[in-house]
Amino acid sequence: MLLAAPRGYCAGVDRAVVAVEKALDHYGAPVYVRKEIVHNKHVVETLAARGAVFVEETDEVPEGARVVFSAHGVSPAVRASAVERSLQTIDATCPLVTKVHKEAVRFASDDFDILLIGHDGHEEVEGTAGEAPDHIQVVNSPAEVDRVVVRDPEKVVWLSQTTLSVDETMETVRRLREKFPSLQDPPSDDICYATQNRQVAVKKLAPSCDLVVVVGSANSSNSVRLVEVALDAGATASYRIDRAAEMDPAWLDGVRTVGVTSGASVPEILVRDVLDTLAAHGFDTVEEVRTATEDLMFSLPRELRADLKAAGAAPARGGRRSLTVEPV
Ligand code: SF4
Repeated sequence: MLLAAPRGYCAGVDRAVVAVEKALDHYGAPVYVRKEIVHNKHVVETLAARGAVFVEETDEVPEGARVVFSAHGVSPAVRASAVERSLQTIDATCPLVTKVHKEAVRFASDDFDILLIGHDGHEEVEGTAGEAPDHIQVVNSPAEVDRVVVRDPEKVVWLSQTTLSVDETMETVRRLREKFPSLQDPPSDDICYATQNRQVAVKKLAPSCDLVVVVGSANSSNSVRLVEVALDAGATASYRIDRAAEMDPAWLDGVRTVGVTSGASVPEILVRDVLDTLAAHGFDTVEEVRTATEDLMFSLPRELRADLKAAGAAPARGGRRSLTVEPV
């Protein structure tokens, strides 16, 4: 078994999950959360069991109650609606998503046409596009470049969702630049470090694998991308599963080497279960394939930090909980 590293929780997910846990500890249940705090079924079910109430929109939150905004970010319209309802907000938007929001605001104020590469309907894309709806159009894939129309081809910039396939995004950018040679790049990478690191690791192990198992939920963009990247990089087969019980033993027929990785919203305990299941099928030799070491951590959301500090219980940061699985 080849086990990708890095895998699992990124700094933004860790911070968002810890924020809900601390909010439940400090304020007590219920704590409302707009959308899934991170795209992982197990995490959402675990927090719901502790008293988090997940809602789709702020108008489902009782007036004056406390609501956490998810790691994927929200548009200004959502913030305004929370103010209107006198909600007490805790903003768990990942700082790397906030960075993209700020880029959008800045380019829109300079009157650029902004081509946001990302998946229509994804919460992060809705949030970013909502910062400047008159200036932003979403480009879902390289194939969509043909339909893109801008006001001034000399004033065009591309930005992107943080969790895309690096290679596919670069292909979209290449085609956009063919069409708009003056296309500006974002000031820094929008696809975040965690997405990139997990793709690099899976690319390294995939060519040696007959099967790559990706642990992650169906609505987790970066997890779904890991399956695509594994296949593109040469894995014979690759499947995404939420948990070990979803593994089909038939996938292992004739397989000599299995790769395992997990998306940025996946707790390590779910990977452990997959390793145990594979070990029970004879895949009991684990070699870690590490391509980077991550130590980034983010401070908890400001509003929560302030309340915890006032109560004399302020942790400076979210705590990493990814367990290290030692190679044997
Ligand atoms: S995947 Fe990247 S952008 Fe998304 S929460 Fe994690 S660090 Fe932030």
